[in-house]
Amino acid sequence: MSCLLCDNQTPVWVCSGPPPSPSRSLFPRRWGRRTAGGAASPRRAVAGTAGKEAVTWRPAGRVTGREGPALLFVKTSQGKEEGRRFYACSACRDRKDCNFFQWEDEKVSETRLAAREEYNRNHQPFFTHRQNVERYKNFVLLPLSKRRFCQECQQLLLPDEWEKHSDHQFLCDISTAQLKSPSRLLYPLENKKTNAQYLFADRSCQFLLDLIIDLGFRRVLSVGTPRLHEIIQSKASQEEDFRVRSLLLDIDFRYSQFYAEDEFCHYNMFNHYFFGGEAARETCRKFLYQHNGERVIMVTDPPFGGLVEALASSFKKLMAMWKEAEEGGHNSQEMPTFWIFPYFFESRILEFFPSFSMMDYQVDYDNHALYKHGKTGRRQSPVRIFTNLTPSMIVLPVEEGYRFCTICQRYVSSGNQHCEICNSCTSKDGRQWKHCVLCKKCIKPSWFHCSNCNCCALRNHTCEKTDAGCFVCGKAGHKRSTCPSLSHARTACQADKKQKQKTLKRIKAGVHQRSAMKHAVFFRKKVKNKKKKM
Ligand code: SAH
Ligand code: ZN
Ligand code: ZN
Ligand code: ZN
Ligand code: ZN
Repeated sequence: MSCLLCDNQTPVWVCSGPPPSPSRSLFPRRWGRRTAGGAASPRRAVAGTAGKEAVTWRPAGRVTGREGPALLFVKTSQGKEEGRRFYACSACRDRKDCNFFQWEDEKVSETRLAAREEYNRNHQPFFTHRQNVERYKNFVLLPLSKRRFCQECQQLLLPDEWEKHSDHQFLCDISTAQLKSPSRLLYPLENKKTNAQYLFADRSCQFLLDLIIDLGFRRVLSVGTPRLHEIIQSKASQEEDFRVRSLLLDIDFRYSQFYAEDEFCHYNMFNHYFFGGEAARETCRKFLYQHNGERVIMVTDPPFGGLVEALASSFKKLMAMWKEAEEGGHNSQEMPTFWIFPYFFESRILEFFPSFSMMDYQVDYDNHALYKHGKTGRRQSPVRIFTNLTPSMIVLPVEEGYRFCTICQRYVSSGNQHCEICNSCTSKDGRQWKHCVLCKKCIKPSWFHCSNCNCCALRNHTCEKTDAGCFVCGKAGHKRSTCPSLSHARTACQADKKQKQKTLKRIKAGVHQRSAMKHAVFFRKKVKNKKKKM
C-alpha cells in the first residue's frame, strides 16, 4: 500500500456510499458510518457556488479506489481556476456523512492510508449482498410471528439475532406484502446532501408505470427509483401476465436485503461505480440486452443536489452499455430514458443531452409536503420528466388538466398557453406566462420589464449594479444571475432571491419535521450566499 499520487495502483479510500440520516442516531453501526475521511470543504462542491468562489469537479483519473473513484474538485474564483484542487467523495456532499478529503498534490502518509483502510474495513455493511439474499430466504420461511424488522438497524432479523437487538425498536409480523414494498418498510433516507430519498406518490408512480407499459417497454433500468422498481417487481411476482421487469441500481444498500443479485446492484450514479465489481456490471449488461425485442428504458430520479455533469456522464456510460449489449448495435439510437429532475435544470440537462425534451407532467412525492400535485392555488411540483422519446408519445392525463398542443406536438399543463410570438407553449412552472416584447421571450406572470436592469424581474426588486464584475466569469457588464457562461442561469434580480428566501421559509414551515427536502439544497445555498454578502 502506498501513495496514490505517485502513480501507484494501490487505491485510496473512497466512500462506499452515504450513511443514513445522520441527523437522527437511528441507524447506528450497521447501516451507518460506512464512510470515512479527512477534512475540509468539499461540501460546497455540489451547489456550485459559495460566496465568491465556485467549485467544479472533474473526473478523478488516477484516484480510483476499491470502492469507486473520487471526484476531483477545482475551486474557481472570478472565473479563474484557483488554489489547490482536491479529491472528495462523489456520493456524499456533506462532510458530516463522509469527510473523505485529499488535496490533489498531497502526499498521504502510510499511517493515514492505513487508518483509512482500517476505518473503511470497520465500516463496511454488516452483511454482503449474497449473505442478505440467503438471510431473506430463511426469513420468508419463518412464521409471521417470528418475522421481525429492526427499525434501528434497518435490518430483517432472524430469531437467533433478537437478543442482540433487544433494546432496539422493531416491527413484528412482517408480511409478504411488506417484504414486497421495502420502500415503505425502510425509513426514507432524506438527508438532502446524500441519499435525498424522496419517494414517488402513488399517483406519479402509477402514471410512470402505465406510461412505460403503454410505450411498449418490457425492461426498466431503475436508477435511484426504488419505489418504481418495487411496484414492477411486486406486480411481476403476483400477476402471471405482467411482463415488465426491473433492475434497481441504487446506493442504498439496505435494499440488498430484499432483492436478489439480478434485481438490485449497489451502484453510485455520480461516478458510475458498481460496488459489486465485474459480476454486478455483467448483471446490468445482461439486463440491458434486449432479448426477443423486449425494449429497455432507463428511469432515473437522482438527488437534485447532485452535479448534473457527473450524473450525465454516468448515464452516458449506462447508455453505452446498452448500445454494446446488442450485437449489431442499435445503430444511431440512444437508450430511451426518463430523467426526473426539476424544471430549472432544463438547460443544464439539454447541454449534456440535446436529444432530451422536458415534459409538463408534475412528478410528486410522498414524503414531501411542498411538492405535491395540486390544482391551481395549491403549490405545484417543479419536478418534471426529461426524455429522449418523441414528446407526442408521452400522453399526459387529460383528467388532470393536461391537453395536447397540436402546434408543439406535445401535452402541456392546463395553464400553459401557446405563445404566438415564441410559437411555443412557454410556461415552465405550469402557470400562464406572458410575452415580453423587449426581452423577446415569455416570462413568469409575476414579472415585469425593468428598464434599469434591462431584463424582466419582480416589480419590487432591487436593481443589480453591474459595475462590479460577474463573479462567475469575472467580466463586467453583467452579474452572476445573467452570466452567459452559466447556461442554467435564470434571469434573477435580487428580488428573485428574496422570493426564494420566502419559498424556503414556506418549505421550513410546511414540511414535517424530519423531512429535509431533496430540493432545499438548491434554495438554501442561495440564501446562504446572500447572507454572506450582507
Ligand atoms: N422517487 C424515487 C426515489 C428518488 S430519491 C422513487 O420513489 O423510487 C433518490 C434515490 O437515489 C434514492 O433511492 C437514493 O438512495 C438514490 N441515490 C442517492 N444518491 C445516489 C448515488 N450516489 N448513487 C445511486 N443512487 C443514489
Ligand atoms: Zn404550443
Ligand atoms: Zn412568448
Ligand atoms: Zn431592475
Ligand atoms: Zn458572467
